[in-house]
Amino acid sequence: MDLIHFKYWFDCLKDSNFLFIAGPCSAESEEQVLQTAKALNNIPLVKVFRAGVWKPRTSPNSFEGRGQEALEWLKLVKEQTDLLTATEVANAKHVEQVLRSEAIDIVWIGARTTGNPFSVQEIAQALRGTDIPVLIKNPVFPDLRLWLGAFERFYKVGLRKLAAIHRGFYPMVKQKLRNIPKWEVPIELKTEYPQIPIIGDPSHIAGLTDYVGEIAQKYLDFNFDGLMIEVHTQPSKAMSDARQQLTPDQFTQLLDKLKFRKPDFDEDFVDKLAKYRMQIDSIDYQIIELLGQRMDIVKKIGAYKNAHDISIFQLDRWKEIVISRIKMGLSLGLDKDFIRNFIQLIHKESINQQIKIRKNGTKRKKTN
Ligand code: PEP
Ligand code: MN
Repeated sequence: MDLIHFKYWFDCLKDSNFLFIAGPCSAESEEQVLQTAKALNNIPLVKVFRAGVWKPRTSPNSFEGRGQEALEWLKLVKEQTDLLTATEVANAKHVEQVLRSEAIDIVWIGARTTGNPFSVQEIAQALRGTDIPVLIKNPVFPDLRLWLGAFERFYKVGLRKLAAIHRGFYPMVKQKLRNIPKWEVPIELKTEYPQIPIIGDPSHIAGLTDYVGEIAQKYLDFNFDGLMIEVHTQPSKAMSDARQQLTPDQFTQLLDKLKFRKPDFDEDFVDKLAKYRMQIDSIDYQIIELLGQRMDIVKKIGAYKNAHDISIFQLDRWKEIVISRIKMGLSLGLDKDFIRNFIQLIHKESINQQIKIRKNGTKRKKTN
């Protein structure tokens, strides 16, 4: 992809360093759409209004969006505010409806769609001949090549106004955030294609309003190009993603708290430091996630040993663990004592967990 001047269209969209996109997860009614859009129109930083017209839901019994009629409401947003409008398209039919409606300025490709090359190809072909901006969310699984493949498909049909949205990745184990940031993936995208603007989506990473602010700040610190944040006039009544949407007031408070980088900062220094920190954060999250997985298995072993009256501590197994882990650590240039201490700490916690299981098991046996 020849991406020279790629960022120009994006820079034209915003008049600050950052592009803010805000709006409800879904367009639910004319009143909800217009009320939210008018509230956001009063916030000068917001340039684009987002609202899902078709919603990709896990269950077919969930609200799947209002479809065609919602496009009419978005047209009213264009008529009654200064905001540009954006919505998700997931197939060629959506694209046809969007283009016919003249209600939408920008489309985005949802995370589930980016993971499906057939759908991406179909959408790209339906958009051929237009110059509508396309924002491409990362696929649900952390596959950078697949994400870049989607860019290439749009690029090949002549679209040049492309940007990425980082919305995090599906967590294999339940954790604090709805989606894991895995910062190393957008960093790699940024390193390989510095011309592709990247917008952060803290709402879908957070899953809960409590965490939206801290993640939004990270995006600013890490020098991303924009933010997409879900805002709803009555989040508790939202028909999708109720727990992660902010009210317009909460959103204003969040914007007030955000610390924008000083323009006289040394860009290179910030970028480098931010990149390293992002990588460290991401690796730490993954270490903790893996520790959680390890402890889950330890609990299963504990229950099994308990059921078969096998002793918790097995000397031979422990010796083998220490030797093999130290060997692996040494091959990676890690200090022998560091690895021994680290594995001992994990082992101690594993034994504690198994002792707890044994105690509970014994209690249960007594009460039986
Ligand atoms: C959305 O933006 O509302 C949405 C469905 O996002 P994602 O594709 O990231 O899950
Ligand atoms: Mn949503």
